[in-house]
Amino acid sequence: MDAWQQSRCTTLIEEFGETESGHSPGATPTKVNFVSHRVKRLFLLTFLVASVAAGQTKHLCVTIDDLPVVAYGIADTSYQRKIITALTRGLVDARAPAIGFVNEQKLNDDTGLSPFRVSLLEQWLDAGLDLGNHTYSHPDINTITCAAYFADVIRGETVTRQLLRRRGTTLRYFRHPFLYLGSTKHVADSLSTFLAGRGYTTAPVTIDNDDYMFAAMYHRAYQRRDTADAKKVGREYVAYLETKLQYYERQSVKLFGRPIAQVLLIHASRLNAEHIDALLAMIRRNGYSFADLASVLRDEAYHTPITVYKKYGISWLDRWALSAGKTGDFFKEEPDVPEYIRAGWK
Ligand SMILES: [Zn+2]
Repeated sequence: MDAWQQSRCTTLIEEFGETESGHSPGATPTKVNFVSHRVKRLFLLTFLVASVAAGQTKHLCVTIDDLPVVAYGIADTSYQRKIITALTRGLVDARAPAIGFVNEQKLNDDTGLSPFRVSLLEQWLDAGLDLGNHTYSHPDINTITCAAYFADVIRGETVTRQLLRRRGTTLRYFRHPFLYLGSTKHVADSLSTFLAGRGYTTAPVTIDNDDYMFAAMYHRAYQRRDTADAKKVGREYVAYLETKLQYYERQSVKLFGRPIAQVLLIHASRLNAEHIDALLAMIRRNGYSFADLASVLRDEAYHTPITVYKKYGISWLDRWALSAGKTGDFFKEEPDVPEYIRAGWK
């Protein structure tokens, strides 16, 4: 980035850095929704406290990106509804206080803002789950200007902020598309100052993975009505995520001397909707109980400084390790996706 772009970033933070002021049109809370949301949240948190009291010391927050759904171009409303219904039912049944990150561009259909797609987010919130901003159009900060990126963040909060306000809560978290923080310290600092100015807390990811590759293969298997292959992809996906969970737990022990509270990233795909029970059961089998993002971020590991910046979207555990000077062998045990998935997903 040249000097002009650097000064432009700083100027833009000053222009956009204010959080929106209090009122929003049409944001009168409905009492039923408000109470229902609060009760469900209390319900989930009660189980969280109970699990801590029971001595289960490992905690994990489930985060789901690219809401309302990753649909592979399928506009059919029952298809999209099924994905959100399965995800929310699985998360609520497992008492997992998850957060979904929204790309509001996906709330539009050919005629503009789609009430149906907005209703998918309302269904998510009605289940007692949280929502955060994942930008409007999922841009790559390495390929557009700071001005364009900041504007996309702001455009991406319009509907979500109103939905949360109607339930008496606020938009608090931001998830970076592609997990790109900016390829230089200056850009990363500019972005984080901008986000903080608008009241956002960054939502890190520690258990990063390639679920989208499995999801694409799963989608294609169903497109050609090959249920046997779809089942195989699903089985291998859950096994793969278990190796990732265990790998990042080992990395956290190597870095911090203990298993830290983890943040899992998966996407709002049919694959995850149809395997949410198996995934959450697998996580529990590994000794984890589910926590909301605020609880996980209280782990002091999340105060670890990041001092190395490149154009990469990686786990915060990898960022912390690289910032601590770890190289090569420290990362050598990272599991890869099966070769046929990697070769075939594109
Ligand atoms: Zn995303």
